[in-house]
Amino acid sequence: MRLDKFLEEQKQGSRKQVKRLLLSKQVTVDGEIVMTINYNVDPFIQEVRVKGTHLQGKAHRYIMLNKPQGVVTAVKDDKHQTVIDLIGEGPEVEGLFPVGRLDRDTEGLVFLTDNGQLAYQLAMADKKVVKRYEVRVNGEVTPEDVAYFKQGVAFLDGPVCRPAELRIIESSKNDSHCYLDIDEGKFHQVKKMFLSVGKKVTYLKRLSIGPIILDETLELGGCRLFSEEEREKLN
Ligand code: URA
Repeated sequence: MRLDKFLEEQKQGSRKQVKRLLLSKQVTVDGEIVMTINYNVDPFIQEVRVKGTHLQGKAHRYIMLNKPQGVVTAVKDDKHQTVIDLIGEGPEVEGLFPVGRLDRDTEGLVFLTDNGQLAYQLAMADKKVVKRYEVRVNGEVTPEDVAYFKQGVAFLDGPVCRPAELRIIESSKNDSHCYLDIDEGKFHQVKKMFLSVGKKVTYLKRLSIGPIILDETLELGGCRLFSEEEREKLN
């Protein structure tokens, strides 16, 4: 990862202050002074020191997973395979947990991290992080449904959702294919939104969480570390 990012993560100051630290020759990597802002460093392997003090803290880890159906978004489960089972074992995945949750029969983007603060912020309703879903339902999704979703759907059992953007990709009497953007995370939210207009979700896939977009080259069950660009988007 970029050295300036690592220093920021390690609470060595703002971007400007970190730049100053580097330019004033106060940062060493494996004993060598580094003044280059975009120097790449692997904090798992290399020794980074600021004013002689070794930064023991490791960089946060982020893994993107394309969750298949049948897998639960949990760290442990007695009956079902979990997202943690999918990412495998080893020191680099120790302490990771999933951010937010998908139903067992939902596919798509899940990310795992050891950054508790970020997970908390993403989960907070008032942060209004937009999640995009691909949805198939039985029945015809109509422009009236689109307008109703925009106004704020009321679940059959009461709670009202914030305005959501529904886009119809294809719609016929028997089934419809849509994209839905929501910025909250009520339990079974997408399924209950469609139930409130008399349609049952038959397929659900999460495509994005805020600025993080599912890498469609990941096969179902596949995972990878975030790219540098994706890590930056979380700042
Ligand atoms: N909404 C649902 O109904 N299920 C999910 O898994 C995610 C959002």
